[in-house]
Amino acid sequence: MSKELLKIENIYKYFPVKGTFFKKITAVDNVSLSIKERETLGIVGETGCGKTTLGKIMVKLLEPDKGNIFFGGKNVRNLKGKDLKWFRKNVQMVFQDPHSSLNPKMTIAEILQEPLREHNIEVGDVEEFLIKKLEEVGMEKGLLYRYPHELSGGQKQRVAILRATIIQPSFIVFDEPTSSLDVSVQAQTLNLIKEMKEKYKLAYSFISHDLAVVRYMSERIAVMYLGKIVEIGNSDEIFEKPLHPYTQILISSIPIPDYNLARKREKIKIIGEPPSLINPPKGCRFHPRCPFAMSICKEKEPQLIEIEKDHYVACWLYEKK
Ligand code: SF4
Repeated sequence: MSKELLKIENIYKYFPVKGTFFKKITAVDNVSLSIKERETLGIVGETGCGKTTLGKIMVKLLEPDKGNIFFGGKNVRNLKGKDLKWFRKNVQMVFQDPHSSLNPKMTIAEILQEPLREHNIEVGDVEEFLIKKLEEVGMEKGLLYRYPHELSGGQKQRVAILRATIIQPSFIVFDEPTSSLDVSVQAQTLNLIKEMKEKYKLAYSFISHDLAVVRYMSERIAVMYLGKIVEIGNSDEIFEKPLHPYTQILISSIPIPDYNLARKREKIKIIGEPPSLINPPKGCRFHPRCPFAMSICKEKEPQLIEIEKDHYVACWLYEKK
């Protein structure tokens, strides 16, 4: 059985509201989860649900206000010096927009050499090594001395993936890595990400608003709503037996190419827009939009409980009141 690689415990992250002294947004609210070696955990939810903030906390681009993060057994919040460098080498992030994540003044060769230099990694003949790496992600060697603006969106994202994997980390967070790409290259990029995982025995957290993509990429899925995890479990089980009404709504809204099947499928309607994070609803945060809301949902917050092995949900429909 694979060992636990990353563990986050009771993480909170607040952001101040502009123009006010005391108001704050709770972007991540008491989130705990773990990721095993060589596992992909998908994180799915609407824009503004806190999934990107959570991803940035996992790679230490943001510090949580409360809670702890453990990576390889070490508490990440206290890392300094050599240990911090070890963490930075092992944990990488690939962002949604490759255009703004690549330095426009550097050639692709310079961009790819930077992490090697930073972590003192010897590769022998650098040019030969980088050409081999480019070829590994389906790019021609002629692109090595080009600048990012001379590449297509798909090529830029391949460079970003290469930059993240070139120093052989053990964990990568992908934040909507295909949502800014043309549909024609999205599938190729997803397959490349999968191939790299197998080849280098990596663990991923794959963040997306698209549940179908998350299922394709992940062994387990965490569903987030307004800063909280409302359901977490094995990908197939989440799809076949979604428990939380919000997960059921997300799944019922995935387009089906077969017209007859699409007609037969029961669609669950979501009510209204997501409430404000500044003043989230009392009780279950989903209650103003939930078609199954009961009076207890408006008063008491449901906790994540295990319904089947490793399948957790936070909903009063499944809890003893
Ligand atoms: Fe709906 Fe109540 Fe479950 Fe929240 S706790 S998802 S409001 S049924």
